[in-house]
Amino acid sequence: MAVVAAIANQKGGVGKTTTAVNVAAYIAAKGNRVLLADLDGQANATSALGLSVGEGPSVHEVLVRSMPPGNVIRPTNVQGLHLLPSSPSLVAAEIELAPQIGREFKLRRSFQDIDGDYDFVLIDCPPALNLLTVNAFSASRYVFVPVQCEYLALEGLSELLSSIQMVKDNLNPQLELGGIIMTMYDSRTALSKEVVNEVRNHFPQTFKAVIPRNVRLAEAPSHGATIMEYAPESPAAKTYAAVAEEVLQRLRSK
Ligand code: ADP
Ligand code: MG
Repeated sequence: MAVVAAIANQKGGVGKTTTAVNVAAYIAAKGNRVLLADLDGQANATSALGLSVGEGPSVHEVLVRSMPPGNVIRPTNVQGLHLLPSSPSLVAAEIELAPQIGREFKLRRSFQDIDGDYDFVLIDCPPALNLLTVNAFSASRYVFVPVQCEYLALEGLSELLSSIQMVKDNLNPQLELGGIIMTMYDSRTALSKEVVNEVRNHFPQTFKAVIPRNVRLAEAPSHGATIMEYAPESPAAKTYAAVAEEVLQRLRSK
């Protein structure tokens, strides 16, 4: 059975997609069968993996029209990594799902079809605590939360944690916080250090590996490549490999 994890934070631009894509790639590179589900209408994970956006069916049809995910999933350039693509039409899914019975469980249901096909499923969530994110949480064993090393990093985290708790209490008792992943660390600033210390003080589940701010990570998606392919020797690549290792430890401990 596949272990499912969501990468979530309702703030945009904190490194969710970068983390989802690169962690998924490293976990696949270790010989695992991995599915990355792009649940954001901006479809950044889809394009970051070099796939065209808006061509063919997407996770939208899976959620709203119960299309089997097998009809939608596409292989990627990374051996062992498949993608359930998103498309801009996903922004309408929220409204289309609202009147449907079992609307919080559409993603979970769809995963039953492909359960034996993957060891791990990672979900790249939209920057909102909406019905799509609730679908991700209902389908997941763990939530991993990227947090940017900047002023007010902890802002919004209590809302995120209470959403996780609400889904755990009402929809998915197995759900747990998998950990906090600090991103865009700038070693030249005292602020970055202070933020990491503050977050660690609040959350012992904070990852040991801290992702540096590195321009290679920002460039890679425009080449449709993961950091593993684009700049494998960069410090950012090495750190994402270490983050993937920590994620894997958590997913395997289930
Ligand atoms: P989110 O999915 O939370 O909105 P992204 O992963 O898309 O965040 O990151 C936001 C922007 O910052 C993107 O342009 C991405 O390429 C860039 N980025 C992400 N992580 C880093 C990093 N560690 N260093 C430099 N740029 C980064
Ligand atoms: Mg994103």
